[in-house]
Amino acid sequence: MPVLKEQLAILEESITHQCLEIGRKREEITLIAVSKTKPLQMIREAYEAGQRHFGENRMQELQEKAESLDYDDLQWHMIGTLQTNKIKFIAAHVHWIHSVFKAKQLNEINKRAAQHSRIINVLIQVNISDEPQKGGCKASEIDELLIHARTLDHVHARGLMGMAKFTDDKAYISNTFQLLQDLQQRHLNSHPNLTELSMGMSNDYAIALNRGSTMLRIGSSIFGRRT
Ligand SMILES: *Cc1c(COP(=O)(O)O)cnc(C)c1O
Repeated sequence: MPVLKEQLAILEESITHQCLEIGRKREEITLIAVSKTKPLQMIREAYEAGQRHFGENRMQELQEKAESLDYDDLQWHMIGTLQTNKIKFIAAHVHWIHSVFKAKQLNEINKRAAQHSRIINVLIQVNISDEPQKGGCKASEIDELLIHARTLDHVHARGLMGMAKFTDDKAYISNTFQLLQDLQQRHLNSHPNLTELSMGMSNDYAIALNRGSTMLRIGSSIFGRRT
């Protein structure tokens, strides 16, 4: 088996196993293959192996890759820092934006999605790690952003996104993810479409699954280490 296909199969087996352990359904979890810095050929290989969701953290790279690949059923996820003035370059391509935490970003996404007669799914990024260099809003700002998103026809707010601190302390990571899960549960009553929780990367996805993650963003465990 080619290496990439094998890596995907190993990861799939691990996710399925973890789901079984904790009594969750595999179908409720989306695996996003984070292809940043990796060549088109690897995306094609992953696609051939059945992978449909891909994540990029740079807007220009997402645009270039999306324009170079012609798969009708491939979904692009923007997971990195958003520059408002570049949203227009990805609006025709992106299906999900995980890194939204300002009203002006929502407005611009809405405006550009409308120009392409599209609806773009967004997740509100929450800073759950107390690291100011990581993006995200405060917990107290979520409600206002969600209320604002409701007034926009071309944006669907679908969930929350967060990142844990890079550490080996599993209990610490778990607590961080629980924070995001609690926030989602708290807002679900007034925002019933807030069903997605984007958390978990190569090193902490098992913990994230345990805390209700519905979207895993995994790069190096699929494509190998980045240089
Ligand atoms: C790079 C990246 C990932 C994937 O990280 P890996 O450790 O390679 O799995 C996930 N989320 C975000 C926001 C990233 O930038």
